[in-house]
Amino acid sequence: MDIQRVQDNLLKWYWKNALSFPWRDDPTPYHIWISEIMLQQTRIEAALPYYNRFLQVLPDVLALADVSQDELLKLWEGLGYYSRAKNLQKAAQVIVRDYGGHLPSDYRQLLSLPGIGEYTAGAIASIAFNIPVPAVDGNVMRVLARLTNDNTDVLSGEGKKHYTHLAQQLVPVDHPGDFNQALMELGETVCLPNTIPCCDKCPLRDCCEAFRAGTAAVLPVRIKKTTRRIEARSVLLVIREGEPKTVLVHRRDETGLLAGLWEFPNTVNNEPLSCIPAVLADKCRFGGELPSSKHLFSHIEWQMRGFLYYVDSDVKLPDNYQWATVLDVEERYSIPGAFQKYKKTANQLLKTEC
Ligand code: SF4
Repeated sequence: MDIQRVQDNLLKWYWKNALSFPWRDDPTPYHIWISEIMLQQTRIEAALPYYNRFLQVLPDVLALADVSQDELLKLWEGLGYYSRAKNLQKAAQVIVRDYGGHLPSDYRQLLSLPGIGEYTAGAIASIAFNIPVPAVDGNVMRVLARLTNDNTDVLSGEGKKHYTHLAQQLVPVDHPGDFNQALMELGETVCLPNTIPCCDKCPLRDCCEAFRAGTAAVLPVRIKKTTRRIEARSVLLVIREGEPKTVLVHRRDETGLLAGLWEFPNTVNNEPLSCIPAVLADKCRFGGELPSSKHLFSHIEWQMRGFLYYVDSDVKLPDNYQWATVLDVEERYSIPGAFQKYKKTANQLLKTEC
């Protein structure tokens, strides 16, 4: 491969076509870091309003290190993968403690921070600090597999190593951050996944071996090994009559899936009421079955059935159960996207007259 030509063509294309984003327009290390973490599992258009709101409330590392976990998770609500937000805060606390509140300008030190893996360390190091290291995500691997007409499985450990090594050879000493962003952007906008790539618009067409061989549409090779475990769950909306009406929410354990987040009580048990305190379950009146819902996590698929209950008397509950008003559900408790459908139903029920 003609490395110089790939670098020149890609950088020229990027400087002419780069899209404008707030983290690009003001590329401080903090901005790059927050944007890269948000964009890990989220499309840019979806992440933009979150990014802007996050920066308004938490404009710097110090603010992030100090914010309460509830406020942080509320800012993150809807983005999913909440461990990302928690790790951001843990890393911010390390940065305040060990680096005077400034992200370290060293790839290895960045990599040692909670929640920062090779890709993110590479992105921050190259974009914010001009260090010539690669930042290899799925988009970049796809471009590289096609560029070199390579069958190495991009989902395997061997593939990750192989394409990272290749990317390292390609990153220029001058403008490494622009080059990495160009590769990612080419993957996002031109060398598209799951479809025929737009080779006619590609600045690398003359250097692309898959284009020459006519194999671009079947690359990269992705061999999936994991299948999702199906979990049938019962989700409860327990509405407490009164003024205002409230719905029962429950805080999850501090470890495991969706750790520490608020949810509507739910269980894998066939007896739905088993997931709320018995003293409350005794007073619940069945109000009907709610529409079912499905949510995919990386390794589990929740298939949920909803059940509505009403209660009109007051009982003392443990601290990890709370009665939430419609405003609480909207603004106070971070309820993960898995419960989106039931959150909508709860809001409708809370707004209707007694
Ligand atoms: Fe991807 Fe086509 Fe460009 Fe090759 S020529 S890198 S396959 S868009």
